[in-house]
Amino acid sequence: MKIYIDGQYYSQETAKISVFDHGLLYGDGVFEGIRSYNGRVFKLSEHLERLYESASAILLQIPLSIEEMEQAVLETLRKNHLQDAYIRLVVTRGVGDLGLDPDKCKQPSVIIIADVITLYPDEFYEKGLDIITVPSRRNLSEAINPRIKSLNYLNNILAKIEGKQAGVVEVLMLNADGYVVECSGDNIFYIKKDELVTPPTHVGILEGITRNTVIELAKARGINVVEKVFTRHDLYISEECFLTGTAAEVIPVVKIDNRQIGQGVPGKMTRSLIQDFQHLTQTTGTPINNEN
Ligand code: PMP
Repeated sequence: MKIYIDGQYYSQETAKISVFDHGLLYGDGVFEGIRSYNGRVFKLSEHLERLYESASAILLQIPLSIEEMEQAVLETLRKNHLQDAYIRLVVTRGVGDLGLDPDKCKQPSVIIIADVITLYPDEFYEKGLDIITVPSRRNLSEAINPRIKSLNYLNNILAKIEGKQAGVVEVLMLNADGYVVECSGDNIFYIKKDELVTPPTHVGILEGITRNTVIELAKARGINVVEKVFTRHDLYISEECFLTGTAAEVIPVVKIDNRQIGQGVPGKMTRSLIQDFQHLTQTTGTPINNEN
């Protein structure tokens, strides 16, 4: 495996960063998780735009232009001979001293890791997921805004641990006011009376690229999409529910807090959107090789 760090490529064994990097010391940095399918990077410009927006929100100046970053991602995929990959793009504040002061970090670091993707088992898609609400609430937007995809993921990790202890692979998170926001690493949607509902970004969610793509796909099918604030009650009485994320894509949910959702099997609208999404991933994206 060849890993990009600040313009150079290293083997997995030699790819290292300093123990004084504020990404490590304080979670001071931003990241993206991106996928390529069939030799094309899916929604690359959307992911890069979000990365630069996350960086801007924490006043971190990325040392590459968006175009240079795009080329670095594509080159890393080429160097690793990958067609179907998971790409982790990380920008840290860089090396500083042991204090918090980000001004001591003179040069942010850019890391690009491209690996084969670990997929969820087929069974999750065929049968649907069983999720629970966890005690940890999603970060306040006024604290670390969940719209920033920062290296500080402890809020989500705590939620994930709570879910694992209860034997589930994904968990439902509420915000401080008790409204449904998202899951530890996925956005959430429900369907009721032919309406597709998902929380608006201002309730405190990461604005998922998959979420936005599914909204577009649903609209193209003529489905009425509504972004509104809702509670768990709305999920409990919904007809269908699903999650979206780069790794999971679109994944049905059939049980929440031990309550069956709809018929207890992946719903019709969910299955249609899964198909539409898969079609899009296979037919669109930025070519890895220029000659494509
Ligand atoms: N919410 C959170 C908290 C996430 O970390 C992610 C990404 N794994 C998502 C939602 C889904 O975002 P995307 O569709 O851009 O992967």
